[in-house]
Amino acid sequence: MIQQNPEFERVNDAWWIVVSGDKILQHRDSPGLFRGDWQQMTDFHAWREDIIQVGEVDSRPCYVLDMDAQHVTQEVYEGISLRAMLMQLQAELFYVVSRAWQVALFLRTHRFCGRCGDRMARVEWELATQCHTCKHRCYPRISPCIIVAIRKGSQILLAQGRHHKNNMFSTLAGFVESGETLEQAVHREVFEEVGVKVKNLSYFASQPWPFPHSLMCGFLAEYDSGEISVDDDEIIEAQFFNFDALPNIPPTFSIAGQLIEATRELVSDR
Ligand SMILES: [Zn+2]
Repeated sequence: MIQQNPEFERVNDAWWIVVSGDKILQHRDSPGLFRGDWQQMTDFHAWREDIIQVGEVDSRPCYVLDMDAQHVTQEVYEGISLRAMLMQLQAELFYVVSRAWQVALFLRTHRFCGRCGDRMARVEWELATQCHTCKHRCYPRISPCIIVAIRKGSQILLAQGRHHKNNMFSTLAGFVESGETLEQAVHREVFEEVGVKVKNLSYFASQPWPFPHSLMCGFLAEYDSGEISVDDDEIIEAQFFNFDALPNIPPTFSIAGQLIEATRELVSDR
């Protein structure tokens, strides 16, 4: 549910997601999202026109307010990264903050028309921007990605990406290309990244991942053939691991962690 021009001034208990630059604000003495009514948000009343409702959690509406590059008093508030904020939230708020972030990003990056260059305006009845000169309309961008856990006997294939921190190993993932099915993307990405072929794909689940606007589509697969040969571009190391000797892996709030857990159960049922 994404709603513009909400009745936020009359709500007495709401969640507020305040985006400032590339950070989300929190109170220094009370970490997490702001909660309360509009009167408690006096430092942000200048942005009244820009508030958008992005969901509801525990019967409380959730609003996003984007200050763009501007900042407020640093003694009272601090900006933390989206990742750090998501790590400290329960699942329902995780999704709503992900959505809020993507809405703010969409509006920031669609101020001018990609076709004729004129200024864009927000459409009132849906989340979109439109150019009044040439009528070009834009919607928030969503980039589908595949993510896949590959099992071989009682082992799982995990890889260390060039950008993974803390020596973390994870499942393989990659963007879907234009004109490609999700299944084709799985086969292509796995072969490109580690040089093996997979079979017996089964759909697992999906997860929006706001870095910056991916939709992760999870699959379970079985190893088919080939020797591991990493591409050295995105992947620096990949190998099959036994479940009693796993490396550092992603937490289970991420779909990568859930895929690893699902594979562990499949393997232990054999
Ligand atoms: Zn235009």
